[in-house]
Amino acid sequence: MFDIKNHVAVITGSTSGIGLAMARGLASQGVSVVLNGLGDADAIEQARASIEAEYGVRALYHPANMLKPDEIADLIATAHSEFGRLDIVVPNAGIQQVAPVDEFPIEKWDAIIAINLTSAFHCIRACVPIMKKQGRGRIVNLASAHGLVASPFKSAYVAAKHGVIGLTKTVALEVAQHGLTCNAICPGYVRTPLVEGQIADTAKARGMSEEDVMRNVILAAQPTKKFVEYSQLVGMLVYLASDEGGSVNGASLTIDGGWTAS
Ligand code: NAD
Repeated sequence: MFDIKNHVAVITGSTSGIGLAMARGLASQGVSVVLNGLGDADAIEQARASIEAEYGVRALYHPANMLKPDEIADLIATAHSEFGRLDIVVPNAGIQQVAPVDEFPIEKWDAIIAINLTSAFHCIRACVPIMKKQGRGRIVNLASAHGLVASPFKSAYVAAKHGVIGLTKTVALEVAQHGLTCNAICPGYVRTPLVEGQIADTAKARGMSEEDVMRNVILAAQPTKKFVEYSQLVGMLVYLASDEGGSVNGASLTIDGGWTAS
């Protein structure tokens, strides 16, 4: 079951955190991957080479900036031309900023909407024609529990993630008869560099100590009182990418320890 060997995937924002874990997880299933994201060139090359060495697949890196539509289109086109197919696209890149709405920096609002929402549109716009021609494809957007519920001080992030879910549903309806699916994964808190940064920012915005933020804000939202593990996200992605996941379409799949159940 869940055989996705020899498939090809593009994962945006895969130089860190969830994206890198997903790239490694797909590679472990025999999927060749195109990495993307910001960061130190040597560290990125090390991650790329280690994926090839450990899993025996091809791993490329493309430096597209998710603020630049032309570069995103080139990322998708390059993946297709290098491998001759494109099976899985995971718009995952994201940033966060925590601040009250009336103090929210305007340029941060614009960047969050562009990177967390609009870049997914550009990825999808570019990959849908390729996937339609193939008669098969999987788009798995990284939304968030914040695509379904809000938290204070995260206006741009919550707006962008709600937008990702709307985009997911719309695309799902458009591609349903072409062998494609489009779904959104909605994780609760995963202990990545993005969350590490929020601990400090939330402490400042709410006037709390960082320890209190961890205990009473971050894990307070998650009934399990545990961070979501990378392997749990990978498991969901592999399922969605497989033939067995082929009837899941337009779904917002929570993986949040019960956060959005309340
Ligand atoms: P992270 O900070 O570890 O990684 C973010 C990635 O996006 C990095 O590779 C970074 O280089 C890339 N990126 C940022 N700006 C970019 C740009 N302009 N162009 C190209 N790449 C860019 O964050 P993460 O926690 O792994 O988050 C990944 C995704 O998962 C995000 O969409 C985030 O909203 C979502 N998410 C995270 C959590 C969590 O708890 N960590 C929960 C729910 C959803």
